[in-house]
Amino acid sequence: MKKGEGVYNVVVIGAGTAGLVTAAGTAGLGGRVALIERNLMGGDCLNFGCVPSKALISSARLIQQIHESKKWGLDCQEPQFVFENIFERMRERRAKIAPNDSQERFESLGVDVFRGEARFLSPHHIEVDGQKLRAKNFVIATGSRATVPEIEGIDKVRYFTNETIFDELTEKPESMVVLGGGPIGCELGQAFSRLGVKLTIVQHGTQLLPREDGDVSEFMQKRLIAEGIRVRLNAAATRVSMCDGKVAFEFGAEPVTADVLLIAAGRTPNLRALNLEAAGVDYDKQGVKVNAYLQTSQPHIYAAGDITNRLKFTHTADFTARIVVRNILMPLQLLRQRVDWSVVPWCTYTDPEVAHVGVGENEARQKNIDYDLFSVPLQDVDRAVVESEETGFAKILTTKGSDKILGATIVAPHAGDLLQEFVLAMNTKIGLGKIASMIHAYPTFAELARKAGDKYNKTRLTPRAKKIFTWLYARARK
Ligand SMILES: Cc1cc2nc3c(=O)[nH]c(=O)nc-3n(C[C@H](O)[C@H](O)[C@H](O)COP(=O)(O)OP(=O)(O)OC[C@H]3O[C@@H](n4cnc5c(N)ncnc54)[C@H](O)[C@@H]3O)c2cc1C
Repeated sequence: MKKGEGVYNVVVIGAGTAGLVTAAGTAGLGGRVALIERNLMGGDCLNFGCVPSKALISSARLIQQIHESKKWGLDCQEPQFVFENIFERMRERRAKIAPNDSQERFESLGVDVFRGEARFLSPHHIEVDGQKLRAKNFVIATGSRATVPEIEGIDKVRYFTNETIFDELTEKPESMVVLGGGPIGCELGQAFSRLGVKLTIVQHGTQLLPREDGDVSEFMQKRLIAEGIRVRLNAAATRVSMCDGKVAFEFGAEPVTADVLLIAAGRTPNLRALNLEAAGVDYDKQGVKVNAYLQTSQPHIYAAGDITNRLKFTHTADFTARIVVRNILMPLQLLRQRVDWSVVPWCTYTDPEVAHVGVGENEARQKNIDYDLFSVPLQDVDRAVVESEETGFAKILTTKGSDKILGATIVAPHAGDLLQEFVLAMNTKIGLGKIASMIHAYPTFAELARKAGDKYNKTRLTPRAKKIFTWLYARARK
C-alpha cells in the first residue's frame, strides 16, 4: 500500500526515544506503522539532552582531572583547551550516534516517516502537512520542553535552554547563571564551570537535586561549591533584565548578573499542537492522562515517554514504549501489561555521579516505612582508594529486620553502572545478604555492594549465635 494511504496499525507522534521504540517495535513485529516528527529525528535525548550533555561532561571531567593531576602523582598542570573545539567534539560524538535514529534507518525497518506537525482531526484521524492518516491505534510520544518560569522581564532577555545551548552558544561566556538546581542544572552547571565559566546555580527550593535525600544533595552542594560554583538556594527571582549587556536577576537584596542565562527549571509537556480535544483525549498541565495500561481516555490512543511519565528519563520513555507495543498487540485487556513503577533507577551525571533506585530515607520517613540503613563510605573500597576517587558513599535501605532491599543511592564514579546490581536484585528479589555471598572481582568499585551485604550479615550475628560459635571453637581446640 502507498505511504499515507489506507489504515495503519499504529500512527506514532514524535520521533524521540518513546516514539522510535514504539515504531521500531511495532514494525519489527509486522505491524504497519507511520511515525510523525516535526523537528529532528531522535528527539531530546539525541539532539538536546542526554547525548550532547554527556559528551560535554566527559570533556569537562578530563579538564578537572588535569587540574587535579597532583592527586595521581603528576606535576601540577593547567589544562590547555579551546572551548569551541570541545563543543565541536560534542557535536561530532552526537553525529556518530545519530544514524541509529535517522529517517533512513526507520524507513529501512519498514516505518513510513512523515516530517511535520501532527494534529488530531478526530479520535481516528490525524493530519500532518496537509495529509490525513488513519489508524487503529495512535501513540502520543511528543515529549517535553524546558519550562520557562514566569519571571517579570524573562521575555525581554536572551536565554538558553537545553534546545539551544548545545548548538547556539558560539563562544565561551565569562559567566553563566543556571536557573534550576535539579539534575540538568547541576550536571550542566558543573560542566560549564569546569570549562572555565564563572557559574552560579540558582535554585528555587531548599536543596539541590530535590529528589535525593538531604545528605546526598548536601554532599553534591559542597562538591560544587568546592569547585568554585556559587549556589543560591531558596532563591525566587522576582525580576530579570538586561543591564550593560548582562542578564541581571533580582532576588531581594543581592542581585545576580551574568553574561549568559541557562534555564533548567523543569519540563513542560508538548501538548499544544496536538488538538487533543478533537480526539477526546484527557490531559492536564502535567501531560496526557493514562491508565495503568498506558491508555488515554480513548482506549485505542496510548501515550509513552515524557508526555505522560512523571519520571522523565530516556530509560522510562523506552520502558513505557515497550509496554505500549505489547499492549496494542494484545486483543484483550486482561492480556495487557500494567506499568509497574516500583523499581525505577535514575542517575545524575555530576562528578561523582548520583544514582538512585527505589525508596530513599526521605520517602521512607514520609510513608512511615520502617527500614534499616547500611552505608558504605567509598574510603572502604580499595579500588576507589587506589584511583584517588574515595569521596562518595552508598546507602542501602532494607525492610526493618530483613535483607529485602527497599532502595539504594550511590554517590561515586560510575554510580549509574554500579546501581544496576541493586536494580537487578530488587527486580528479582535477591536480598542484601545474598549479594554478600556472591563473588565480586577485586579490586572493583562493585565491592561497594558486597560490603553493604557484609554489613547486613553482621547484624545477624546475635550475641546468642556468637556464644554458640565461641563454644564450637573452644570445643575444636580440645
Ligand atoms: C539536558 C538534558 C539531559 C538529559 N539527560 C538524560 C540522561 O542522561 N538520561 C536520561 O535517561 N534522560 C535524560 N534526559 C531526559 C530525556 O532526554 C527525555 O526523558 C527523553 O528524551 C524523553 O523521550 P520522549 O520520546 O518522551 O520525548 P522527546 O525526546 O522529547 O521526543 C518527542 C518528539 O516529539 C516531537 N513532537 C512534539 N510534538 C509534535 C507534534 N505535534 N507533531 C510531531 N512531532 C512532535 C518533538 O519534536 C520531539 O522530537 C535529559 C534531558 C535533558 C533536557
